[in-house]
Amino acid sequence: MLRNTAPLGIFGLIIVWWLARLISRPLLQLAESAQEMQSPGAAGRIERVKPWYYEAAQLKRVMLVGVRLLHAKIGLLTSEAQTDALTGLYNRRVLDSSLERLKAEQIPFAAVAVDIDHFKRVNDNFGHGIGDQVLKRLGELMRINTRDDDVLCRIGGEEFLILLPNSSPEVALRVSERLRQQVELTLFKTAGHITISLGVAHWPHTSSDINEVLKQADTMLYTAKQSGRNKVVAAPADPREKNLVS
Ligand code: GH3
Ligand code: MG
Ligand code: MG
Repeated sequence: MLRNTAPLGIFGLIIVWWLARLISRPLLQLAESAQEMQSPGAAGRIERVKPWYYEAAQLKRVMLVGVRLLHAKIGLLTSEAQTDALTGLYNRRVLDSSLERLKAEQIPFAAVAVDIDHFKRVNDNFGHGIGDQVLKRLGELMRINTRDDDVLCRIGGEEFLILLPNSSPEVALRVSERLRQQVELTLFKTAGHITISLGVAHWPHTSSDINEVLKQADTMLYTAKQSGRNKVVAAPADPREKNLVS
């Protein structure tokens, strides 16, 4: 009897094993995808799982909803962590990481420090809300007057820093002057006309030390303020870098 039933039993066991594998396969694939939910390709991996029965299909659907929500949240948090809420420009954290990247990749860049002239008066005369509107509009003007890969940062209350990768000192000066003129010509709502002062420095033309370049931009901004405001002042070329000046 054993001899007669054994093959049937073995065949039955194989069928059960095969069915169990078939049932567990989509679950296993979904479980593997779940281990890397935060990675950019997670939704695609889950999409590729082919569930052939209702429960696994439901699980896949719920996981897709979850992973999309997670990615939307990560995107939002990343953008909040990188930008200034008022102007939408980058914050100091992005400035630091951009400088690290430019240094690591040896990409020459210009640094432009921007500060609103007599901004305290705007607040005093029209209130903080109008002052905020001026900051926001200035952020927009900065965006309009620069390229997409320029890094626009609000680094303090009414202080900004622009990094212009792969730009010569001459181009940086031109961009700065254009922005200065644009701001001068713009009629800001309620606040009327305002002006800005700008300080320009360049790595490696004005210094081979990146921190020094940022200091130079700041010093040039101070010089612009001292010499009457509404001006662009550029740092002189570092004599040791003369061969690099284009
Ligand atoms: P200067 O031409 O020398 O730069 O004069 P200033 O009045 O612009 O410079 P100061 O540094 O004395 O004043 C900056 C003012 O910016 C003071 C502060 O009230 C204002 N401020 C800083 N952050 C904000 C902000 O987020 N919103 C508004 N509305 N005002 C701000
Ligand atoms: Mg100011
Ligand atoms: Mg200031």
